[in-house]
Amino acid sequence: MSQTALTNLLDFDVAGLTGYFESIGERGFRATQIIKWVHQLGIVDFDAMTNLSRALREHLKEHCEIRPPAIIAEQLSNDGTRKWLMRVDNGNSIETVFIPEGERGTLCVSSQVGCPLDCAFCATARQGFSRNLTTAEIIGQVWQAARALGQTPKLGRHITNVVMMGMGEPLLNFDAVVPAMRLMLDDNAYNLSRKRVTLSTAGVVPGIDKLAAHCPVSLAISLHATNDELRDKLVPINRSFPLVELLAACKRYVANNPHAEITFEYVMLKDVNDSVGEARALIRLLQGLPAKVNLIPFNPFAGAGFERSSDEAINVFRDRLSRSGIVTVTRKTRGDDIAAACGQLVGEVQARARRHQRQTATTAAATEEIS
Ligand code: SAH
Repeated sequence: MSQTALTNLLDFDVAGLTGYFESIGERGFRATQIIKWVHQLGIVDFDAMTNLSRALREHLKEHCEIRPPAIIAEQLSNDGTRKWLMRVDNGNSIETVFIPEGERGTLCVSSQVGCPLDCAFCATARQGFSRNLTTAEIIGQVWQAARALGQTPKLGRHITNVVMMGMGEPLLNFDAVVPAMRLMLDDNAYNLSRKRVTLSTAGVVPGIDKLAAHCPVSLAISLHATNDELRDKLVPINRSFPLVELLAACKRYVANNPHAEITFEYVMLKDVNDSVGEARALIRLLQGLPAKVNLIPFNPFAGAGFERSSDEAINVFRDRLSRSGIVTVTRKTRGDDIAAACGQLVGEVQARARRHQRQTATTAAATEEIS
C-alpha cells in the first residue's frame, strides 16, 4: 500500500477517532486508548499498544500511521527559547517555538504555511501563503515539542500553555485548528485548561463567533491600532471587518463565556501607533470589555520599514493604560537572537500568492471558510 493511502491518526480528536473506529467495526472506546498512547505517552509503535487486541494492532499497522511533521532543525536561544523548523511536505516547512519562563512553558504553534493576511509589520506576511496545515500537522507540532522536551507523565509537564500565535491565521483554518485544540484540552492527551490554550486572531469576525460556539478557548486579538484608518494599513483584514464589528464580536465572545477575558495585542511601532493620544483612544475602545493588553515591542526584520518604540514611549503607554485599570504588560522579547520572536517566524514557504494579489483572495477565503 502506498504511503498516502495510510490514515494518519494524528488527524483525529477523540470524536473523530471514535468515528474512525466505528467505521471499521471497532468499539469507540478504543479512541481514548489510542489517544493516551500517542499523545500522553508518545508511543507510535502499534505493537507497543498492549491493551489493543492483536487483530486491531494488525489493522492499524496495515492501514494507519502516526506521522507528525519531521523536525529538520532546532535552534536554542541564549534565553532558553527553542525554535524548531518542521517539514510538512517537500517544499514547505513551518516553525514552532517553546518559551520557558519559570514554572511556565509556552509553546507557540503555527496554523498555516505562511499567511494570507498581509499585516504590514510581520515577517510571516512577506513569505506569502502556501496552504492550511492539517490537524496532524498542527497537533504534530505539540507532539514533537513534547517529545523533544522529554515530556512524559512521570517526568512531568514542560508545555503548560499553548498559543496559536505562530505562522498563519488560525481562524482561516478553523476546521483543522479546532480538533487540534480539542486534543490540547483532552484529559487523555495534553490536558490543558481552556485558560492555557489561546487562539490569536487578526480579527476574522465570523470565526470569533464560531469559536465561541465550538471551542471557547482563551482569545487574543491582534489589535495594533485604535482607528480604522491606521488599522486598514497595518492589519488589512480590518477593511473587511472594521473595529466596531471586531469589538462587537469580542463582546459577544465574553457574553457567551462568562469568565472569559480577552487579551489585546498591540505592537509598539515608533511614531506610528505609540502616542499618549493612542493610549487614551485604546482605553476608550476597550471600555466595558474584560480586557487585558499585551504591548509587543516591535521585532525588526530586514526591510520591515518600521522601528521599535523607545522604552520610554512603551512605559508611558503602559502606565497610562494601567492607571485606567486595564492590566497591561509589555511582552518580553524572547528568542530574537534566533528569529523566534513574535512576527519573525518564516519557515520555508512555497507561496502560491504573493503580497498584493492576496487581499481580495483573503477576504473571499475568510467568508467562505467560516460560512
Ligand atoms: N494571525 C494571528 C496569529 C499570529 S500571532 C494573529 O494575527 O493574531 C503573532 C502576533 O505577533 C500577532 O499579534 C502579530 O500581530 C504580532 N507580530 C507580527 N509581526 C510582529 C513583529 N514584527 N513584531 C512584534 N509583533 C509582531
